[in-house]
Amino acid sequence: MIIVLKPNATEEQAKTILTRIEEAGLKPLYMPGVERIVLGALGDERVLQQLHLDAYPCVETVKPILTKYKMVSREVQAHDTVVRFGGAAIGGEKFAVIAGPCSVESESQLMSVAEVVKKHGAVALRGGAYKPRTSPYDFQGMGLDGLKLLKQANQQLGLPTVSEVMEVSQMDAMCEYIDCLQIGARNMQNYALLKAVGESKKPVLLKRGLSATIEELLLAAEYIYDAGNPNIILCERGIRTYETATRNTLDLNAVAVLKQRTHLPVVVDPSHGTGVRELVIPLSRAAAAVGADGIIVETHLNPCEALSDGHQALTGPMFEQLMQELKPFVEAAGRTL
Ligand code: PEP
Ligand code: MN
Repeated sequence: MIIVLKPNATEEQAKTILTRIEEAGLKPLYMPGVERIVLGALGDERVLQQLHLDAYPCVETVKPILTKYKMVSREVQAHDTVVRFGGAAIGGEKFAVIAGPCSVESESQLMSVAEVVKKHGAVALRGGAYKPRTSPYDFQGMGLDGLKLLKQANQQLGLPTVSEVMEVSQMDAMCEYIDCLQIGARNMQNYALLKAVGESKKPVLLKRGLSATIEELLLAAEYIYDAGNPNIILCERGIRTYETATRNTLDLNAVAVLKQRTHLPVVVDPSHGTGVRELVIPLSRAAAAVGADGIIVETHLNPCEALSDGHQALTGPMFEQLMQELKPFVEAAGRTL
């Protein structure tokens, strides 16, 4: 329920209503605006109706939140959320480019690629230390040693880091070494993990599941928000369709839909979205044009030797080309790079 107070309503009156909501066992929300105070009440709709909040003289209107997801909805918050970590801001005026290897493989591999992406304008470094691999015989990631290398890169270059957490038991180490926690596509509906990252307060990059609907993605984000963490970045990374020409089908519709329905920032992953190195730059331009807040791209200085996803990694020169080719599209979308 959204409770819009009259323009002259006082904070005191707002507090009275918030207390009433809380006493009824519901979750109160306080959203002071420029012109008026807006309140929210989340929980059992039947209890909400019995409160008769429209009877308070300071209340202008009471309207239901129509979507299943509440806190992440634009109905509750009209303005865009900006998620910040290190020097990066995702969702603001600047189109954010997050880049780095699929997996952290060694100190020299990580440091060399981190230097290149930083030089050409990446705002954050990605790199997986715990890797969700389809085959148990494939490289599973460096684990804790990988996290330590990411911290080292962060300290040497000043780039904040994004890395995937696969299990609740990894949370302490992740929070010690990493700036933004990635929830991978395969874990989008791992509710224990969503609650754990929600309790941590670290920014979260939540990837859309391989066959998840937009509503399911938003409800997964709602879990994180509800557990106390509003610092969520959504990521469209391609979905499974009947098409086999590309690894996945990058659903840019989803970006436009998400920008309408949620105040959370939305980034696009054209690397997993296409699975083809040569398609990453064109789809990055498309992501900027459709209104995404940024991209996350896999980059490797020697992709032939990469231990995972080498086929979709940009080379160093291609990353430089990406940044040059993105610029006019980012500017046309009213942003800066
Ligand atoms: C990754 O970012 O390397 C990754 C495994 O992504 P996704 O969860 O989107 O497949
Ligand atoms: Mn990958």
